[in-house]
Amino acid sequence: MDNPLLCIFCDNALGPDTKPEHILPNALGGRKTTRRVICSDCNNRFGSTIDDALAKQVEIIRNLLQLESGTGKPPPMLRNVQAGTEKVTFRNDGQPELVTPPFTVTERPDGTAEVAITVKTPEELRRFLPHIAARLRMSEDELVKQMEGGTGVVVERRPGEVHHHISFGKEDAIRSVAKSCLVLLATLVGNDAVKSDAFKEARTFVLTGSKEFNEKRVTIDSRPVPGVDDLIRVYGMFFNLIYVRSDSAGRVIGHFTLYNAISWQIVLAEAGGPAECKSGLVSNPLDPTSWSDAIADTVNIPFAWLDAADKGYELERARQRLISMAQYHHDESQQAEIARIVNDVCAKYGIKSDNDPIDPAHQEAIFNEITARLAAHAMHQPYEQRLTADQMKKLLKGESSE
Ligand SMILES: [Zn+2]
Repeated sequence: MDNPLLCIFCDNALGPDTKPEHILPNALGGRKTTRRVICSDCNNRFGSTIDDALAKQVEIIRNLLQLESGTGKPPPMLRNVQAGTEKVTFRNDGQPELVTPPFTVTERPDGTAEVAITVKTPEELRRFLPHIAARLRMSEDELVKQMEGGTGVVVERRPGEVHHHISFGKEDAIRSVAKSCLVLLATLVGNDAVKSDAFKEARTFVLTGSKEFNEKRVTIDSRPVPGVDDLIRVYGMFFNLIYVRSDSAGRVIGHFTLYNAISWQIVLAEAGGPAECKSGLVSNPLDPTSWSDAIADTVNIPFAWLDAADKGYELERARQRLISMAQYHHDESQQAEIARIVNDVCAKYGIKSDNDPIDPAHQEAIFNEITARLAAHAMHQPYEQRLTADQMKKLLKGESSE
């Protein structure tokens, strides 16, 4: 009788009831699953911890690019994003909504008061009138009379700068990335091989985290993968890629490209793993039905390339990728503005030209800030329209202001 199949992270037996594990996380649009590598317990635990950490880090990009999950769930909402002095929620469809209190009253020393009202519709304005009147200690009729005599400005705008801290490369998220590499490898070489001592440190990293492993065996690597143009042609400009390969000594490298923007190299085994094996899984997050786990044969990424992760960070490439993301939903007139944001953030960190060195300690911060500001730029430019007294009257009375 065959030995029962065991989970690569614990010794639970696997069977037909085992929960399917997404090899590339569902949040990244992964469709390919397996019941033969990870037990349901580990699957659930990882799902609510390290996979969730990775999913949170890509929320803003998913909202910006409107990326569904592998199982077809809509992009995540971004709740209570601080935008200047206001808070904004980005709905599933990417549209921002103010969650700031709808009105503020500023009383001036001369006894007059300035009322700033932020509402989306005239109906909403009229709904708040009693509250504003109460705040000003006057009746609603008096308030309307005063407002009719005053002037108003309708400002249609979206907040200018959103501070939404996202960071790539936090240890929890990298543990999820390492898990994806190990699971893909196990589908190729079997669970016993991945349960061997050669992968002990990598398994421990996934299970409990390890500062040392993260520092010594994980490298941010933003070189374009060999064959990137072919991958883009078939799997889109923001493809996700997992590629695992070993040499003749059983040194095993895992490579994970996220949205064709940022990549990590993980040394899964220093030596003694299965020799001369390779496996790749690629997926198009813009169309999760488009994926393949058989690309290692057609997209040949040499072991030497995988093993020689660039210790630096190729700013220009990351910059181009981020600009591509932000431009995805935008017309050409916005491109200069997007480039300005990227260059502005780079300048803030002392990077004036592509040849300037980047302090590795700033890599994350730069990437985060650019991404957050580009996400903010998914919002329209402000425009203001001054209301005539007549339009103001009509607005307050609930008539069309046409
Ligand atoms: Zn398990």
